[in-house]
Amino acid sequence: MLRGLSLFWEISVPQLAVPGSATGLGGRSLLWESLYPSLTAGSLTACKGAGAKPTRPHFGVANAQEQQSGRNKEKAQQSELKDSLERKQLEAAARTMNKIRVAVIGAGVVGLSTAVCIAESLPGCSVTVIAEKFSPHTTSNVAAGILSPHFSPETPVERQKRWFEDTFAHIFSIAQSAEAPDIGVQFLSGWEIFEEPPKERIPFWSNIVLAFRVMNDAELKRFPQATFGWMYTTLICECTNYLPWLEKRLLNAGGQLQTGKVTDFWELDGKYDIIVNCSGTGARALTGDTKLYPVRGQIHKVHAPWLKHFVRLGNGAIYIYPGISSVILGGTRQRDDWRMSVDPSDSEAIFEACCAYEPSLKLSHKLFEGVGLRPTRAVLRLEKEKLKRGGRQMHLVHNYGHGGAGVSFHWGTAKEAAQLVQESAAEIRGQPIYTKSRL
Ligand SMILES: Cc1cc2nc3c(=O)[nH]c(=O)nc-3n(C[C@H](O)[C@H](O)[C@H](O)COP(=O)(O)OP(=O)(O)OC[C@H]3O[C@@H](n4cnc5c(N)ncnc54)[C@H](O)[C@@H]3O)c2cc1C
Repeated sequence: MLRGLSLFWEISVPQLAVPGSATGLGGRSLLWESLYPSLTAGSLTACKGAGAKPTRPHFGVANAQEQQSGRNKEKAQQSELKDSLERKQLEAAARTMNKIRVAVIGAGVVGLSTAVCIAESLPGCSVTVIAEKFSPHTTSNVAAGILSPHFSPETPVERQKRWFEDTFAHIFSIAQSAEAPDIGVQFLSGWEIFEEPPKERIPFWSNIVLAFRVMNDAELKRFPQATFGWMYTTLICECTNYLPWLEKRLLNAGGQLQTGKVTDFWELDGKYDIIVNCSGTGARALTGDTKLYPVRGQIHKVHAPWLKHFVRLGNGAIYIYPGISSVILGGTRQRDDWRMSVDPSDSEAIFEACCAYEPSLKLSHKLFEGVGLRPTRAVLRLEKEKLKRGGRQMHLVHNYGHGGAGVSFHWGTAKEAAQLVQESAAEIRGQPIYTKSRL
């Protein structure tokens, strides 16, 4: 229908059909439709209202010459506009043909944010996310999503600080927008308390979160179990909303989503030029990395809308985080435990422990229980690797092992991974990009 209308447009307004075009009238018509469907349809609605042949107003002889000169000027402007649009279209097509093909394995918070950063910052790359599971079936969906990183002694503090700072700034800007609750983001204030004071009384992220301070004695009375504590305002980013939003943002940037399990990186040889590995705990089987292990976490979500502040035990063993539509209670930290089913004895222990800090929880009712496996490693793996096999080489970028801080670090590590992809792409530009699959 639209194509027919477009043809009518070109016949009615012949100055817009470029004679001698290699693509011919039909090709041009398609080009015009794809560039301006609304303009084409809208313009023709006006013509359709006037009948098959658009009627023109009748002008007197005195102003006929003026009319002709105006029409010529309009024709010249339209022709110029169309030439410039056509040039842009051809340039875009040329760019697409020459794109570096990037596959991101994983659709958790790390994979999707990495894919968005690549798609939005590297126009020379096309991005496809390949994942066995998408939201709501990832570990990221189970995360409470509070922005509060755990210190990793084996990772330079400056690096952790940068990742957290970048993530905080990104989520902060979402929190300022009208869409914040739809995206699962909100500010949250509360107390982080310790039974024994921590070694570092002031954490490295104290000046990144807002209004950080050490709790005074009067506040500590609120928690008889604690001897020390911090109060601060941070952000919470609930992945049940945030991941679908990232998926949309990726699609808007031209990226693609594909369901599938990758059992060997070489399956992707020839189909993609750079592979970005964001497979969370899946990276253990995929890379053979025995330094990566799961730390099982079980949570509850309850209805307790009267709770407005978070309470978190400094070691992360117990937490109460009021989210947008529920309060998240946790949790467990069971190393090397691959069980994905809800354990009723864990449920009981979590609820009891949280009630000890917030007795009013006894009035709440349970909405959801879930389990996730934190992909844990002494040092998060964010680096390039080149695999070689039978004269072929494969460019990899690893971004996994975020442990209990994946939401807190995701945007910072995604930006750094995108930079590594850019470096690999620059290297590949000197080599033939398109190869035949070996499988
Ligand atoms: C109970 C709990 C509470 C938490 N709370 C917080 C918190 O408050 N704040 C915070 O910062 N962090 C928190 N975390 C940690 C956070 O959830 C993780 O660090 C984060 O989700 C890791 O994200 P990811 O994208 O690396 O992994 P995942 O979310 O597990 O995603 C991995 C993706 O890779 C895919 N995949 C794996 N293997 C393959 C394969 N072979 N082929 C194709 N696809 C594959 C999976 O299908 C999935 O799409 C919490 C974790 C848990 C369990």
